[in-house]
Amino acid sequence: MNSKSTDAPRRVILIKAGELALKGLNRGTFEAILLKNLNHRLSSLGEFRMRKAQSAIFVEPLRNDIDIEEAARRVSEVFGIAAYSVAEVTEKKIDVILEAAADFLGKELLSVSTFKVEAKRSDKSFPLTSPEICEKAGEFLLERFPHLKVDVHHPQALAVIEIRDFGAYIHSRQLPGAGGMPVGSGGHAALLISGGIDSPVAGFLMAKRGISLSGIHFVSPPYTSERAEMKVKSLMEQVPRYAGHMELYIVPFTKIQVEIGRLCPEDLFTIIMRRFMMRIATILGNKYDCGALVTGESLGQVASQTLPAIACTDAAAGLPVLRPLIGMDKDEIITISRRIETYDISIQPYEDCCTVFTPRHPRTRPKLEMVLEAESVLDTEALIEEAVRGVRKYSI
Ligand code: ATP
Ligand code: MG
Repeated sequence: MNSKSTDAPRRVILIKAGELALKGLNRGTFEAILLKNLNHRLSSLGEFRMRKAQSAIFVEPLRNDIDIEEAARRVSEVFGIAAYSVAEVTEKKIDVILEAAADFLGKELLSVSTFKVEAKRSDKSFPLTSPEICEKAGEFLLERFPHLKVDVHHPQALAVIEIRDFGAYIHSRQLPGAGGMPVGSGGHAALLISGGIDSPVAGFLMAKRGISLSGIHFVSPPYTSERAEMKVKSLMEQVPRYAGHMELYIVPFTKIQVEIGRLCPEDLFTIIMRRFMMRIATILGNKYDCGALVTGESLGQVASQTLPAIACTDAAAGLPVLRPLIGMDKDEIITISRRIETYDISIQPYEDCCTVFTPRHPRTRPKLEMVLEAESVLDTEALIEEAVRGVRKYSI
């Protein structure tokens, strides 16, 4: 690696961390997790140095051939970041800074009609004060781009000049980051993931609140095909973009469904099946340090998602069940699903174990006593033990 200053990379990504700034004593831990997550997302592009300074994080590529635009795109998907921008780094000499500002911001300044300069000087040994930098840069840019006008209240473009210890940084308005909290700062949970639209969105929303995830998927071969399983794996491959590395546990569910179908009333099939899912997910969740289960349920969306049905499902879970979509309409869920690029995979046709054995008239107001009575004919423990023994694990 060449470390001569003339060859030093001239672009860095400037990051403003999100809510972690509010977290007082936890701040150090949160920042450490955010830096680890950034490293994880960027490492395949090359080597970067991460530097913290006051409220900012600087991500510096260690070589000039690293694709900084792609790095910035990846940064935009990392939770715990309020805003980010690509900045040009120069020597701390005002003439050099002004030329670089005109060069680096030129394209944007040509496309707008109003702008404003903002200057911040944390290196107090720099000979000009912030207002003086603003004045000089304003004059210089107006001369270079005579079509521009200064608008201090609602400028279309910003020219930001920051004089820091390590150099001068020039950038335009920061772009909004993904928000939320760094994944891993809020604990770990098991995401019950089907091939549908909802559960990947539920995973995304919990990851946004800092939860790292393991996936659990129930399959019923030969009623569900290899292709359905592949589809879930493709969905899960989208998840690490925002949720980091994760494991997927595939649970064989055929025998349980066949037994429920054979021995229990048809109108309670779905609710009993969902209770089995919860029991098995609880066992796996406890085994893999999960503090909660996450599902893509939304109130009233289908018969198994009415309040009485959810009460029956919850009664079988031994961990808190988080349902981040509970108050959302389908179109709101779809909007997020498109944004995180799971929608096109989710709408491919497939069989889910839930759809294979769906009763014609599922009960929408099941009573727990009725469900317990209906379940009592099953050898629940043995069925669960066998399913758990057959679990296969994939790392994504
Ligand atoms: P989705 O779009 O996520 O499939 P849905 O609206 O189709 O949800 P259901 O099929 O009733 O609703 O499933 C409700 C929730 O149960 C799902 O969001 C998911 O969390 C979980 N779930 C359903 N099927 C499976 C499965 N085969 N494996 C793991 N979890 C599942
Ligand atoms: Mg489904």
